[in-house]
Amino acid sequence: MKEMVFEGIVASPGFVVGEIYLFDLEETAVFPHPIGKQEIGTEIARFEDALIETRKELLKIRQELADRAGREVTELFDAHLLVVEDRTLISDVVKGIEEKKLNAEYVFQEVINEYSQAFLQIKDDYIKERLSDIRDVARRVLHNLTGRKRADLASLREEVVVVAHDLSPSDTALMHKENVIGFATDIGGRTSHTAIMARSLEIPAVVGLGDISTSVHNGDPVVVDGTRGLVIVFPSRVTLARINREKSDLARFETQLKRLKEVPAETSDGFRITLAANIEMPEDIPSVIAHGGEGVGLYRTEFFYLNRTDIPDEEEQFRAYNRVAKKLKPDSVIIRTLDLGGDKFNSALEIPPEINPFMGWRAIRFCLERQDIFKTQLRAILRASCQENVKVMFPMISGFSELERVLKIWEETKDELKKKGVPFYPDMEVGIMIEVPAAVVMADVLARQVDFFSIGTNDLIQYTLAVDRVNEKIAYLYDPLNPAVLRFIRQVINIGHQNNIWVGMCGEMAGDLLSVPILLGLGLDEFSVSPVLIPEVKKVINSLRLSEVRQLAQVVLQYRSADKIRAEVKKLLRQSTPIMLKREEYKR
Ligand code: PEP
Ligand code: MG
Repeated sequence: MKEMVFEGIVASPGFVVGEIYLFDLEETAVFPHPIGKQEIGTEIARFEDALIETRKELLKIRQELADRAGREVTELFDAHLLVVEDRTLISDVVKGIEEKKLNAEYVFQEVINEYSQAFLQIKDDYIKERLSDIRDVARRVLHNLTGRKRADLASLREEVVVVAHDLSPSDTALMHKENVIGFATDIGGRTSHTAIMARSLEIPAVVGLGDISTSVHNGDPVVVDGTRGLVIVFPSRVTLARINREKSDLARFETQLKRLKEVPAETSDGFRITLAANIEMPEDIPSVIAHGGEGVGLYRTEFFYLNRTDIPDEEEQFRAYNRVAKKLKPDSVIIRTLDLGGDKFNSALEIPPEINPFMGWRAIRFCLERQDIFKTQLRAILRASCQENVKVMFPMISGFSELERVLKIWEETKDELKKKGVPFYPDMEVGIMIEVPAAVVMADVLARQVDFFSIGTNDLIQYTLAVDRVNEKIAYLYDPLNPAVLRFIRQVINIGHQNNIWVGMCGEMAGDLLSVPILLGLGLDEFSVSPVLIPEVKKVINSLRLSEVRQLAQVVLQYRSADKIRAEVKKLLRQSTPIMLKREEYKR
């Protein structure tokens, strides 16, 4: 077969050679499990429950849409409702379970496949539309039957490179390092939570590849070049030899970088900054330590809530936070309160689908409404603060009144614990993420209420430039070096310092090698990055002088275009650390 090269967006660096596992159509992702005669009744009941649940979901969506959307949309849901109420379909599945003695999801899947095949034969647009209704509803029913969106990636038995149209962050969180050795998706951007998750799992990954999932087959040999953002299917012998060479170069380079582990992050003229790590779960701690992270600048607690049908209670959360704090002491651990919504969901919480989820009912907005869930988390964080290195940080703060409400709940929770005699550390630092443009504008007001700012550029860039962070079509516009973004960052750092609070950054920009010199020059106090990126960032910081980056920041902030800014940074890196520049240019 002829070699096929797909170009995409670098999500997680590294090279891997393997075979493709197409994880796309749910049809291929449900597995048959034989059942005993006595289990037939239970399987049928499970199937019926899933139908009832799906019907409820559809009715709820239809009702919500009825006030806002046009008739066309509500009619679509009427059509969907007809599918779950279709007697023939239901009885085909029930009969199938009884006769084949297989699990409900598998039989349901088979019946849907048969229907799809039959529909495909008919050349009529109306009928074709009905087919997409059936598939849509089938996805919902399967979701309810399995309690998760797709097949369990953690249960893969062999090493594979997963290729999919899209993967949710919860799909990615399930990937067992040993079995999913790389992945590639049609859509997605570098700061999607799926890409972030891939970096933290250290799985080479490329996203935004266009149409790879419909162009390849299960078992096709493949190379994922996560360093350049390429996926090569049916690689030639020449390609394989090149990849192997680059793989060993990379390994050698990484060994060199690892030697930096014991060295502090400090410019060559002695200016020291904190270089911390972003984590998603306590299991990431060994990687933080191995890469020399100075504590955690962002603990994304919402990953706790993914891949489960319940929600974690106070005790379970306390144990996790306490474990992280204890392991990393005396370095600090900044626990960010729940940031569900956007591209992260928990099925038990019934966050309704939204047209614009990143601008919707998410993060602190969700917590302010679900104060039961919020306070449970705050209690767990406060209890863990007894380790004396825990800080708390609130996401998506957009203004003073919102922050006031949050701080009131925080104080109430502390009072409640005090009354009960539950100990916590009274001097715990409280910070907010600056990731909404309104918070930048109001930074002077907000700074007086908190102990620190952490700039969340993943969101701040998408809101400032109006560029969806998970949309690969407009990824070229998503640029941390856009002058508007840099002006905002300068403003936040200056205002933070004028108000005597420290300013960190936990968005992916803090790990972007071309941004690091500018951020350093602007006076950023703390960089928090994916653990794997720590050595590279440290290498860049340690090779620069404070005087030269201050000068650089002054110069580039007068420029009008990102290209000019980029060229200026490159000029500096070419002198200070050419090897890192070469690696950066690799990514194109
Ligand atoms: C950010 O927005 O930069 C951030 C760190 O938060 P998240 O990526 O979890 O939205
Ligand atoms: Mg964010």
